[in-house]
Amino acid sequence: MRYEGSIYRPPSEAYSYILQVTIGCSHNACTFCGMYKEKNFRLRSKKEILEDLDLARKECAQVKRIFLADGNALVMKTEEMLSLLEEIQGRFPEVERISLYAAPKDLLRKSSEDLKAIREAGIDMVYLGVESGSDNVLRKINKGCSSEEMIEAGRKAMEAGMTLSVTLISGIGGKKLSLEHAVESARVVSKIKPHYLGLLTLLVQEGTPLFNEIQNGEFALLSPVEALKETKILIRKLELDETIFRGNHPSNYVALSGTLPFDKDKLLKEIDHALENEETHLRGDQWRRL
Ligand code: SF4
Repeated sequence: MRYEGSIYRPPSEAYSYILQVTIGCSHNACTFCGMYKEKNFRLRSKKEILEDLDLARKECAQVKRIFLADGNALVMKTEEMLSLLEEIQGRFPEVERISLYAAPKDLLRKSSEDLKAIREAGIDMVYLGVESGSDNVLRKINKGCSSEEMIEAGRKAMEAGMTLSVTLISGIGGKKLSLEHAVESARVVSKIKPHYLGLLTLLVQEGTPLFNEIQNGEFALLSPVEALKETKILIRKLELDETIFRGNHPSNYVALSGTLPFDKDKLLKEIDHALENEETHLRGDQWRRL
């Protein structure tokens, strides 16, 4: 397969065929994110994409899942996306799931009818990086949207029939906004009620604006214990109907997973147990990775 630059995908897309339909992220301005800093954003040409699809068809006997990279493939115009999905379905009739990252503004820009058409043409799952429900944190990290817009974007994807997976970042508010981040994130996710909630823990990449803020003393990272206490507040405050919670990302200090609200007590007990046995139960910084 041919790829341009580093490729990122959600952990749950580990066995998916990754098709690069855009290069980089059209926003590319979040202070903590270094994923696409080396790339100038552009849409790939249809010719390039179709060549990749033909190559993949030759090399792969079975393709059950396809992830459309890079940062926010939903930025494509609706007609282009529909035509691409037709090409994919034509070549890979066996595909069971097509997914992508969506920026909140991409979801808001599209009409509900467009999103439904995209869903019907094959996009089953959308990953939305909420990061935080706090407007102060969202502003500080330059996410480019408010918590209300985040709620509207998430709901819109679900109303279009898409499976929605949202991500929060533990510690993204630093010490100063940790409590607000936990409480407000619980508020926003409880309003969206996504199918999946993924929790990562902040890992700082050199060269990002956030890295410089830490060097200048403007941002104080949470300790592992503080991060876990923040997660405890978040989980305690979440009010969900049935959301699969995955807090087992390698960046986290403790691996947590369950279905909320049913496993809330179990998760809180696991956190308490880890806090009581922090020496042996918290993953060291040297083991954490994106
Ligand atoms: S976090 Fe997402 S939206 Fe923000 S710069 Fe990185 S890829 Fe783009």
